[in-house]
Amino acid sequence: MSMQTSATTTPQWPRWQRLLAASITCPQALADRFGLDPAPLKAVTARYPLRINPYYLSLINQPGDPIWRQAVPDVRELEDTVCPADPLGEEDYSPVPGLVHKYRDRALLLVTGQCAMYCRFCTRKRKVGTREMAAAGSAAQLDAALAYLEQTPAIHDVLISGGDPLLLPDGRLIPLLTRLRRIRHLEIIRLGSRVPCTLPQRVTLKLAAALKKFHPLFINTHFNHPREITPEAARACQRLADAGIPLGNQTVLLKGVNDDAATIRELMRGLLKIRVKPYYLFQGDLSRGTDHFRTPVEQGLAIMRELIGHTSGLATPTFALDAPEGRGKIPLTPDYLQSLGDKLIFTNYQGLPCQYPNPR
Ligand SMILES: *Cc1c(COP(=O)(O)O)cnc(C)c1O
Ligand code: SF4
Repeated sequence: MSMQTSATTTPQWPRWQRLLAASITCPQALADRFGLDPAPLKAVTARYPLRINPYYLSLINQPGDPIWRQAVPDVRELEDTVCPADPLGEEDYSPVPGLVHKYRDRALLLVTGQCAMYCRFCTRKRKVGTREMAAAGSAAQLDAALAYLEQTPAIHDVLISGGDPLLLPDGRLIPLLTRLRRIRHLEIIRLGSRVPCTLPQRVTLKLAAALKKFHPLFINTHFNHPREITPEAARACQRLADAGIPLGNQTVLLKGVNDDAATIRELMRGLLKIRVKPYYLFQGDLSRGTDHFRTPVEQGLAIMRELIGHTSGLATPTFALDAPEGRGKIPLTPDYLQSLGDKLIFTNYQGLPCQYPNPR
């Protein structure tokens, strides 16, 4: 079951593919590595897939740390009685398989079910890395999705996601981008990828050079903890930024991982230093198997209060909740406005009162 051996037997593969092939995917290997009881790990991985590549594994300092919690299966995944399987109602907004069209002018294209690491808190946990997404990115699915995009001129912004689109080899990713670029009304293309964080070796100079040809191309990545900002991750982001790709970041608030202001502040400042602009800070979705990661909304708002005004506006993401049943993202902002009328009354970020005469 262990895939450890393939790392050494296939030197002709790019380094990132060898790292991926050397991932821990079987619960026994993980149990052996950390001296854990394999039984609960086996129970969880019978339902949700496990993959921790050697790079991300190397970031774990000790069991229970913030990196560990994102990667290592937890029995609580099986005990979730709160969250439904498809919280965002993505299936209801899917005109063709592998495409979600929820907002009029933008669409989400799911091109693979594979990721460099299977995050325990994943919002598409029911599908990612399982047989349910085996067809994602198949020629038939992509043909149908591209036909839909071609026939829907209201769509100006396509977000390529998955799974992780940067797990596609260049030989599949580049032809896909080429086809998308032929659709005139698609003004911008976005890639949503956790690879700069979880497998930065994937961001080769060759990839960065190839991506340059598809501007305006944006990449949103996904860092959740300052310890993920390593020299390797910084180099991956530098390569992409040097290719002219604006980089954003989406963080999820996760209990026991990053649910305090000091950690989030350090993460946001660290991202700016590697030229990544914090975009969203998400309240955890109601995705089955992830309830144990959810934090009270008040906590997220309190964290935002400690960012706004206290640190660079560039380091301040939008705190948002993706509403159930496909109602879309709702921005959540701490309340500074005390009353609205002829005179607006506020408290500022320091808690000091202030006023502004409202023109009528
Ligand atoms: C988040 C999301 C988008 C993009 O939303 P932005 O606010 O523009 O980043 C588009 N489609 C779906 C289905 C989404 O979930
Ligand atoms: S990389 Fe993204 S899609 Fe993949 S498991 Fe993690 S959160 Fe889910």
